[in-house]
Amino acid sequence: MTYQYWNEKMETLSRPELEAYQLAQLKTAVDQALRTPFYRERLGKAGINSDTIKTPEDLRRIPFTTKQDLRDGFPYGFLSIPREDVVRLHASSGTTGTPTTIYFSKDDINRWTSFVARCIYGTGCNKTDVFQNMITYGLFTGGLGFHAGGEEVGMLVIPSGPGNTTRQFRLMQDFGTTVVHATPSFLLHVESKMREEGVSRDSVKLKRAFAGAEPYSEDTRRRIEELLRIDVFNSYGLSEMNGPGVAFECQCKQGLHIWEDGYIAEIVNPDTLEPVPDGETGELVLTCLCREATPILRYRTRDLSSFYTEPCACGRTHRRLHRITGRTDDMLIINGVNLFPSQIEEVIMSMKEVGNNYLIVVEKEGALDRLTVKTEVGQDIFMDDARPLNALKEKIRKILQASIIINPRVELHESGSLPVSEGKAKRVQDMRPKDA
Ligand code: AMP
Ligand code: ZN
Repeated sequence: MTYQYWNEKMETLSRPELEAYQLAQLKTAVDQALRTPFYRERLGKAGINSDTIKTPEDLRRIPFTTKQDLRDGFPYGFLSIPREDVVRLHASSGTTGTPTTIYFSKDDINRWTSFVARCIYGTGCNKTDVFQNMITYGLFTGGLGFHAGGEEVGMLVIPSGPGNTTRQFRLMQDFGTTVVHATPSFLLHVESKMREEGVSRDSVKLKRAFAGAEPYSEDTRRRIEELLRIDVFNSYGLSEMNGPGVAFECQCKQGLHIWEDGYIAEIVNPDTLEPVPDGETGELVLTCLCREATPILRYRTRDLSSFYTEPCACGRTHRRLHRITGRTDDMLIINGVNLFPSQIEEVIMSMKEVGNNYLIVVEKEGALDRLTVKTEVGQDIFMDDARPLNALKEKIRKILQASIIINPRVELHESGSLPVSEGKAKRVQDMRPKDA
């Protein structure tokens, strides 16, 4: 196989060169971080500045940063450049109350875009491709991030966004789409809709898909590939590290290259926070080396992964991550949207008509995830009067949807009828098959 590189020099730097580059960038990132209120205090306390970072191991002296830190620093605690030099912001999907917000300078956007272009090009795409970006635009980074990367490669980009499969098929047929980007569950949904609506596979020219934003197994990848007769490439990113373009599969489809000239990756034991031996699973910790406006050092992603120990056949020197197998916290990912059970609790417990017990159920409905929120009603509500119950159900659904972005199904139950667990309340039933 011949492999194509977007930036051959950087993608194939020798390990010593790459590590020297990382060290220099880390010093710059630390200097930049010291310009933010948050790190001025945090690094100041730990006695860390760019002069104390002399070897790659010195990274480990920097304290970790957590999602809670980002929330506490809202809105400008992590901003390191004048507000007027910021050209865009993105926010982590599905968070209510205090979101985590990332700011970008113009140079930040350009750097991010070139990492996404590198990912796309590395799968074999080029300017002859037509790219339908079937993922959410807006505050979520997946839409605009891939959009810009696709244009950078020179592809014709169709900003279709997700949903409305009939329209998606029309676009594919009308413009000869060859590449799509979506969540794996949406790709499976597209396939079943294609059969349902009698759209023949031969009427579309699809060759590849980029699939990410939520965990999925190797079996799911194979299934999508066989059903749609395309190559599927795993795409990993998170808003705290810009969004997509952090780690991506090359044409070998054997793990995701993490772009080490943009990010330093560590894998630590989530309990001891010590590094795990190479090849063992632990929590991925990332340091952003390619963003000036919002520097983030040693971010605990909560995502579980491990490093491949062998180099990749494609010749890239950047290490590869195994696909993400889960998270160390209770965050759910519903059709690509992040959701903490506490967000639901916050909303329903603030409503006086709602009783004390509730249950969050996540299931597969076809290929897509389906969220049901079961709540007990308050004691003074009669279950035999349908009108007020339906009104209450609709009210809960609307309030929830506005705050969690996902449209849930709401079920009302009589006061005291939902199961009460003896010990720690079990509020989430995730019924999705473990392998999917
Ligand atoms: P967001 O900040 O909204 O983009 O969400 C980022 C989170 O989505 C990550 O921390 C992961 O938990 C999840 N995620 C993104 N891409 C993947 C992927 N390819 N496989 C598994 N999980 C993913
Ligand atoms: Zn490779």
